[in-house]
Amino acid sequence: MINGSKRVSQPIRWAMVGGGIQSQIGYIHRSAALRDRNFELVAGAFDIDAGRGRAFGEQLGVAPERCYADYSRLFEQEAQRTDGIQAVSIATPNGSHYAITKAALEAGIHVVCEKPLCFTVKEAETLRALAGANDRVVGVTYGYAGHQLIEQARTMIAAGELGDIRMVHMQFAHGFHSAPVEALNQATQWRVDPRQVGPSYVLGDVGTHPLYLSEVMLPELKIKRLMCSRQSFVSSRAPLEDNAYTLMEYEGGAMGMVWSSAVNAGSMHGQKIRVIGSRASLEWWDERPNQLSFEVQGQPAQILERGMGYLHPNALLDDRIGAGHPEGLFEAWSNLYYRFALAMDAADRGDHRALSSISYPNIEAGFEGVRWVERCVESADKDAAWVTY
Ligand code: NAD
Repeated sequence: MINGSKRVSQPIRWAMVGGGIQSQIGYIHRSAALRDRNFELVAGAFDIDAGRGRAFGEQLGVAPERCYADYSRLFEQEAQRTDGIQAVSIATPNGSHYAITKAALEAGIHVVCEKPLCFTVKEAETLRALAGANDRVVGVTYGYAGHQLIEQARTMIAAGELGDIRMVHMQFAHGFHSAPVEALNQATQWRVDPRQVGPSYVLGDVGTHPLYLSEVMLPELKIKRLMCSRQSFVSSRAPLEDNAYTLMEYEGGAMGMVWSSAVNAGSMHGQKIRVIGSRASLEWWDERPNQLSFEVQGQPAQILERGMGYLHPNALLDDRIGAGHPEGLFEAWSNLYYRFALAMDAADRGDHRALSSISYPNIEAGFEGVRWVERCVESADKDAAWVTY
């Protein structure tokens, strides 16, 4: 179990390229990297707009002289410092991943890059060779692979609990781009622009996520050949696809299928993986991440819950909160601490108007809980008599 004490010897001096104030994924990187204090945010080139990036970096607590106008200056000037950055996360639109990753590796910096890492196998080979030659780590944020139940599935499959693997059905099919929303939404505009995303939209943007889940769960399964049919249901997106079906034949005869879509109207996220063996199947759905469905042919289906003692020890190692609590707990607690801080700040400034406008479980909430318990005990001790509240 991770309780915040499992740390690297010294927090890694870390920077971000992209992930600026208006970005979708920047906060998720910071929240993940900073949670266990294994990383320390010390520098960045956070935005395509240098001024906005600097202002945001300063808001994040980064020293003004370490908020750079662009990634070239970030790598160049950090290299001059004795306390320069050791790692960088790249959360920019896809078209810049290759150049920034290459520059970081050439500067001897570890990289965490958003997917897709780059556009061509040739570029990927270059990055792999550079990372190897410079002995640097490259991580790619296929984020869902970190969920403990993916490890549980991997262990069960490796132990033969499903029998021989026959089929793998994958999908990441949401509905948010069922209409041409890019007309109004900047973050969607670059996603459907071949100059910025290269040869594909949904295959790279969403399909690669469940594909990686299958690689984690089934490391022995190797694709022998595949066929893909793709469509642009919003025709202005052509030649980029907003829907695609990929059928794969694995070595050994198993079959796989990936449905990648941004036009699955009504679907919130729709990332699922179902592994089907000769004896049983496993299914995981990212919208209900705490449950892994285990279905043995001829028996009642079982739902394996995150954090429970019956899981494999490896699947418990990375748990932070134990069974029962949903992971939404982190969000709820973060919101409360945010409001506690606002309240303390308002109180310290003597701003009672602001203080009274902040909603949080305050002393009255604490008081009320105590009174309620006291009255309950009083009633119970009187053989469940009515007591005045
Ligand atoms: P976004 O358009 O919302 O934000 C992009 C950010 O990068 C902005 O702050 C922009 O100012 C900044 N930027 C752009 N070019 C830059 C440059 N050259 N230097 C510095 N900053 C620059 O995009 P987003 O939705 O946050 O996506 C960013 C990346 O994250 C994409 O590659 C996307 O595919 C990926 N993504 C991954 C996941 C996931 O689950 N892993 C989810 C969403 C997005």
